Amino acid sequence: MPTVLVTGGAGFIGSNFVRHLLATDATVAVINFDALTYAGNLANLADLVGHPRYTFIKGDVTDRDQVRAALQRDVTDIIHFAAESHVDRSIQDSGPFVRTNVIGTQVLLDAAREFRVKKYVQVSTDEVYGSLGATGFFTEETPLHPNSPYSASKAGADLLVQAYQHTFGLPAVITRCSNNYGPYQFPEKLIPLFVTNLLSDIPVPVYGDGQQVRDWIHVLDHCRGVEAAWRTGTPGEVYNFGGRCEMPNLELTKLLLRLLGKPDSLIRYVEDRLGHDRRYAIDCTKAERELGWSPQVSFDAGLAETIAWYQANAAWVATIKNKDYMSYYEKQYGAM
Ligand code: NAD
Repeated sequence: MPTVLVTGGAGFIGSNFVRHLLATDATVAVINFDALTYAGNLANLADLVGHPRYTFIKGDVTDRDQVRAALQRDVTDIIHFAAESHVDRSIQDSGPFVRTNVIGTQVLLDAAREFRVKKYVQVSTDEVYGSLGATGFFTEETPLHPNSPYSASKAGADLLVQAYQHTFGLPAVITRCSNNYGPYQFPEKLIPLFVTNLLSDIPVPVYGDGQQVRDWIHVLDHCRGVEAAWRTGTPGEVYNFGGRCEMPNLELTKLLLRLLGKPDSLIRYVEDRLGHDRRYAIDCTKAERELGWSPQVSFDAGLAETIAWYQANAAWVATIKNKDYMSYYEKQYGAM
């Protein structure tokens, strides 16, 4: 039986991935290795407690001994989601980003070599490519040009993966995906932040002129892409995933206001994020051609389902929007 070590499985995408994999493949076992930082939440996987093919290990990817002990459980493959993932926090303090995203990846790569894993998947981001003008798309050939401490730390990790693949023949692939949305996303990212604020009639902070363009993809489409890259991706290759759904942030904000029946007066324009990338857009034809993958969830349906999920899971939101969250929020946005 393949035993997949999923790092960061208690976070947003990792938890959706673990649930997806266990539900769709009865021949696989999953070990979720997660440090449970502010973004890690075992409630995201409460439905899997007691599942016969699921194990949780609390561990830090920067800790060599903990990583080696986890791999000793007959791990065959590693899918590496664990990261510090929020750009704004990387601007407040880049230290944890370099530690987890760069050093953590190096520790995992060493362990992957030592234990001769069959496949190593590095879950990366389109943000490593930098920012686009009004036209064009990121392909897998686009040079890396990260602009934030977050994306720089992810790019550093990607380069290490490529170096280990080249130097040691590690069977590694890299995936780079655009902005995800869906259930269990920590409400610091745009869609869950705005939806959960609006459900409580709290204003929403729009950076600068709100004309930054992002490409949105449903988290399950991303999970299916990572799965395809794991199963059939060619070692040494990079695969981009995107939702073919570009939208300026302000347009998305107004769409959320409309869907929730809230007035535009709840918009608060706040000072733009430092170094804010203007536009991301993904060319994902390589993944379509070589992995037989394509995005399945329409943005309209996915967004409606996501809003309904946050409405139905007010208790989950309430436990997250605690004292620590509020102190981060006030530091980031001030009094709105
Ligand atoms: P998240 O912040 O929701 O979850 C990160 C998880 O990693 C948490 O469970 C956290 O506890 C865990 N973690 C953090 N540091 C750790 C450490 N040192 N050791 C072990 N576990 C640790 O992040 P997410 O949005 O689910 O993103 C997952 C991955 O996907 C990241 O690598 C991110 O860069 C990438 N990605 C995210 C997006 C997006 O839109 N969210 C898009 C493309 C790629």
